[in-house]
Amino acid sequence: MNAQEIKLTGKAEPGGILIGIGKNISSVYLNDTKIKVDNNGTFVLGFDRDAAGTHLLKIEYENGKKETKKLQLPKRKYIIQKLKIAEKYVNPPPEELERIEIESQYMKDARSKVGKIDSTLFIKGFIKPAEGRISSVFGSQRILNGVPKNPHNGIDIAAPEGTPVLATSDGIVIIAGEDFYYNGNFILLDHGMGLSSIYLHLSKLNVKTGDKVTKGQKIGEVGSTGRSTSAHLHWGVQWFGNRIDPMCLLNISF
Ligand SMILES: [Zn+2]
Repeated sequence: MNAQEIKLTGKAEPGGILIGIGKNISSVYLNDTKIKVDNNGTFVLGFDRDAAGTHLLKIEYENGKKETKKLQLPKRKYIIQKLKIAEKYVNPPPEELERIEIESQYMKDARSKVGKIDSTLFIKGFIKPAEGRISSVFGSQRILNGVPKNPHNGIDIAAPEGTPVLATSDGIVIIAGEDFYYNGNFILLDHGMGLSSIYLHLSKLNVKTGDKVTKGQKIGEVGSTGRSTSAHLHWGVQWFGNRIDPMCLLNISF
């Protein structure tokens, strides 16, 4: 690799992720936001589900040279998905509202802990965390019992209860949470550089908050806890607050 060249892998698209590797980089900006670069010259850029338009990637090298790459995001269409689920998950009963609020605050606090690891724990790449058919894709606009709700911020993998759930890559367990109203039993992993993954509706947890995990390690088992109609794994990915299509990780090769 030439000193003034970066290698980008992944896709610049809504819900997409790009991983850059370069040498002698002093700083990287996405538009006007400074991006973390690890000691080996690796950085991550993510584009939210609703990202659009042209984005500028600016790289400054140690010798003072600068390079700008234009990233034009293609338009992405999402399907509309109508689902029938238990009414208590669309309009929760009043006695559950306090619990839901506490859990929601707990999730916000947990999410705010992601992004403090300035190294690429994910450098060995990513794997699909469970065997099974993709039963629901990323980004769908969801209408639950006729009520428009948040889009689907992950993918669903249909699999029998008890199917092993594996860490998609090396990481740290930010929370292994039990019996949340919507999430059920779940695990949030921090992979470094702002990249995180979440695994919902588990029947069993095999790790606890603070544990280090390695790519392919069994962290839990598929279940149907929380807002779920049948056994499946909901797998979500974020880069800081940006909602990323988990399938994009599977197309990354270093
Ligand atoms: Zn899901």
